[in-house]
Amino acid sequence: MKNRTLSDVVQRAEALCQERGVRLTEQRKSVLQLLCVSDKPLSAYELLDRMRGTVKNPAPPTVYRALDFLLEQGLVHKLESLHAYVGCTHPEHPHASQFLICDDCGEVSELEDPSVANSLQAAGKAIGFRTKRPVVELLGTCARCTKKEDD
Ligand SMILES: [Zn+2]
Ligand SMILES: [Zn+2]
Repeated sequence: MKNRTLSDVVQRAEALCQERGVRLTEQRKSVLQLLCVSDKPLSAYELLDRMRGTVKNPAPPTVYRALDFLLEQGLVHKLESLHAYVGCTHPEHPHASQFLICDDCGEVSELEDPSVANSLQAAGKAIGFRTKRPVVELLGTCARCTKKEDD
């Protein structure tokens, strides 16, 4: 996400939180901003490191609490395979996403294909499994890196 859209993202997040009657504190906002300006997913420790610039003495529990809040509000997503977090590009509605993770450049794209989510739910249900959170992460090479390889 580019800087140009950062104030946009923060404004939308603030509006959403206000609508829902929850508070986007400075710490939560700073975690969200860091995730949005980063072109790669960040782990909690990378976030902690980067927060030192803006927040006085950030502690791991502070970061984890902020992340829990942002996850709960759907403003960020957790990438299980990387133990890292990314900002969500469309937090207005709850959604099950799929992530495409490039091994070469580390870029992560978010897909929102309801048919994928539905068929996973149905497949689980068919064998009596109650899915709480489907995690779909595709590891591979992004279009840009594939093109570079071909050149
Ligand atoms: Zn999302
Ligand atoms: Zn790539």
